[in-house]
Amino acid sequence: MMLDRRVNEYLDSHRDESVRSLVEFLRIPSIANNSADGSCRKAVDWLRRTLEGLGFTVEELPPRDRPMVLAQRIINPAAPTLLIYNHYDVQPPGELDKWTTPPFEPDVRDGFVYARGASDDKGQLMAHLMALEAWDKTVGLPVNVKMLIEGEEEVGSPHLKDVLEAHASRLAADAAVVSDGGWHDDDTPTITQALRGLVYVEITFHGPTADLHSGIHGGAVVNPINALAACVAAMHDENGRVTLEGFYDDVDEVEPAILRQWESLRFDESQYARELGVDSLAGGEKGLPVLIRRWARPTLDCNGICGGYTGEGSKTVIPSHATAKISTRLVARQDDNKIVESIKRFVASHTPAGIRSTVEVFAHSPAVVLSHNTLAMKTASDAVAEAFGKTPKLIRCGASVPVTGLLQSMGLDVILLDLGLPGDAWHSPNERFSLEQLFGGARASAAMIQNMADMAR
Ligand SMILES: [Zn+2]
Repeated sequence: MMLDRRVNEYLDSHRDESVRSLVEFLRIPSIANNSADGSCRKAVDWLRRTLEGLGFTVEELPPRDRPMVLAQRIINPAAPTLLIYNHYDVQPPGELDKWTTPPFEPDVRDGFVYARGASDDKGQLMAHLMALEAWDKTVGLPVNVKMLIEGEEEVGSPHLKDVLEAHASRLAADAAVVSDGGWHDDDTPTITQALRGLVYVEITFHGPTADLHSGIHGGAVVNPINALAACVAAMHDENGRVTLEGFYDDVDEVEPAILRQWESLRFDESQYARELGVDSLAGGEKGLPVLIRRWARPTLDCNGICGGYTGEGSKTVIPSHATAKISTRLVARQDDNKIVESIKRFVASHTPAGIRSTVEVFAHSPAVVLSHNTLAMKTASDAVAEAFGKTPKLIRCGASVPVTGLLQSMGLDVILLDLGLPGDAWHSPNERFSLEQLFGGARASAAMIQNMADMAR
């Protein structure tokens, strides 16, 4: 069914108030790293006032200095429940002289609001708040809504897993919507349907107890950098495939229907290469299209390598040790634990005599693939189509959004309803959010609530 006319009219006639309200929220410099300055507290107080004004019960979950906000409005325990995730913390502003207007003095110009956090993630949060207000002030909210608003997403969500697990039963919902991402291009509504997982390790090759004179001892001992470089190089074959045992075991082919959607997306390879400053996109597995390599195939990269003498000029040493940081991005049903074990076996078998190797695991999480036949996907897809006038295409994202996997592992039916645009300059100077995306996003959120209520009838 279409979005209730009264809700739609309320959204249309309150656009100015909504923008003013977003500007007020953006003025709070809630940088997670600076939680000691009280700005995260101010953002939480702003959220508390706003949500309590809409009849929500608001509580703060750990940590104390930048708490997770859990707000609930239960209209009827038998009605469907929607869980909405956003975060109120923002990245530091970076180089201030690169900003046209100051990062925490929001400026509305040319159809955008410019401020740190505008698109990531306060604007996207605001779209949901507008929808909740429109329902509350007209017909009354027809479903139960829980909002989970994190305060440390930009610093790697150190408490998220524990807090979610401790409160799992209270987060139960029929659908969970995460809005913390962006569209593929400015005119194509998209819903992100899969995210890659991650395994991150640090490999160290230990040789002699101290750096040695390479003239006196060269030829006698194995050089840890030479050996580690050979080990890292051996992780790919000449076709760009990763050589770890079992690496491709649980990698699924992309369904033809999804592939066709990707082929219809606007994607200019040479422009993309230019933006990245390279003359060719020759990474990954040979013979596969770029979007497939980025979205649907697992990858392995050395993120940093160090050892020996790295100062100015020359110093002739055989280093005592060398270290490489390695990450792999996982897809589909790849088992992150199995990949960790496979890396350890690979390193052991590529450690020559005279070297002792260690592998330290920093992080590992599986990929997230969201089914496209679920209630959440259906209601969200219809809502986005109604709000933006075009059926959304299903895309993927090569990066990880940890909350998605965590919510999914708690049994929630999660969808990624992203509202950002490619030009929003996330984490960069002059971050912005399109007002059209704000208004469209609010309509989409309101329509999703309508669809959930309709389905329950
Ligand atoms: Zn974000």
